Amino acid sequence: MKARAISVAGFDPSGGAGTLADVRTFNRYGVYGAAVVTALTFQDTRKVYGVSPLHPDDVGRQMEILLSDMDFQAVKTGMLADAEIVGVVADLLKRYGVKNLVVDPVMRSTSGAVLLDDRGTEEMVRRLFPMATLVTPNVPEAEYLTGVEIGNVKDMEEAAGRILRMGPEAVLIKGGHLEGEVVDLLRVRRPDGDRVYRFVDTKLNVDVHGTGCVLASSVAALLSRGCDVITAVSLAVSDMRKALREGVVKVGRGRPVIFRPYGGNFPC
Ligand code: PLP
Repeated sequence: MKARAISVAGFDPSGGAGTLADVRTFNRYGVYGAAVVTALTFQDTRKVYGVSPLHPDDVGRQMEILLSDMDFQAVKTGMLADAEIVGVVADLLKRYGVKNLVVDPVMRSTSGAVLLDDRGTEEMVRRLFPMATLVTPNVPEAEYLTGVEIGNVKDMEEAAGRILRMGPEAVLIKGGHLEGEVVDLLRVRRPDGDRVYRFVDTKLNVDVHGTGCVLASSVAALLSRGCDVITAVSLAVSDMRKALREGVVKVGRGRPVIFRPYGGNFPC
């Protein structure tokens, strides 16, 4: 067993998002997955009913115990709840020199619940972005982080440039629009100037719970296996599009989730 990745994120009991979805995703890429819970969420596939952040000391304790036992080749952060939790996570990542950090800057659920407050967002930008290999905002998150109103791909490129100046090596803005097509834009910092890559696809009319978690975890898994960030993002984006076509399952009464079991032969 070589590649191990850790998810530092919220616990979504429905399994569609958060730590359960992250570990399931790591496993799909052949990567061993561990998870540190930052907050309990009370939710099903319909909505988030409430959020209860853990005490920052308890988040730190879970994480330190794991980091002192196992070597992780990548870390994915998702819901971090508040500034104190962000601080504890940043301190430990720094202390243990963890590489390949993917920061999914989760701030709100689709149903509107606050998953990271404003002070927490500031702290995430200040402490985690400079350590990150990749930050993966969706369009509203990128707009909030930069103040750029995103109406087209040029705006995505501008917002991505501003996020890069906050410190990460690369940024992936997910789900921009361009005349009926959907665009994921990757901007990577290079000493001789930024490179921009656009991943364009036809827009699918699916509203799936947890896609952000699955995409960020896919990238973390591929980084932990040794892929460079451009390869990891490009494989993860194409696999996500495949998942949206073939791996969407309605498990409850609300939005469907991504679920791609391994199969196998069972007698029942
Ligand atoms: N719950 C947790 C723990 C999450 O990390 C996220 C998103 O990252 C959500 C809920 C929100 O998922 P959605 O936007 O699909 O409702």
